[in-house]
Amino acid sequence: MEDCIFCKIIEGKIPSAKLYEDRDTIAFLDIAPINKGHALVVPKKHSVNLLDINEADATAAMKTLRKIAKAVSKANSNCAINLEMNNGREAGQIVFHSHMHVIPRFENDGHDWKRTHTKYEGNEMHLLAEKIKQLI
Ligand code: 5GP
Ligand code: ZN
Repeated sequence: MEDCIFCKIIEGKIPSAKLYEDRDTIAFLDIAPINKGHALVVPKKHSVNLLDINEADATAAMKTLRKIAKAVSKANSNCAINLEMNNGREAGQIVFHSHMHVIPRFENDGHDWKRTHTKYEGNEMHLLAEKIKQLI
């Protein structure tokens, strides 16, 4: 994919602090880390995000994700880890090549991961569950 920054990193046209590579995936440090050691796991074949990635690449990425999460944790005294994947602009995606974030977390690191919540009315929750179930 022309003009895809992660395709360029995969092709070695742009440097990265590479952590791991196999046939289908690569992992490198995020250039603007939320905490130091923040890594990205990236399937090599271009897809936009989880909504269009094929099953084989998603599976390969999950295997690499586990390896990288364990290593990043060990490298930081067995720290906690957040996994994050932003799928679509409204979800905060800015690089439109599928990737998952591995983010080391520390006591009082200043990142508030709490979200605000909404409420279902009446039967809405069950109706929505039915709608989603039909689409699996
Ligand atoms: P998202 O699309 O999920 O919001 O995040 C994209 C991530 O890619 C950001 O955290 C950003 O810092 C990282 N990023 C963007 N460009 C580069 C780059 O050229 N090199 C590396 N290592 N990370 C990048
Ligand atoms: Zn790409």
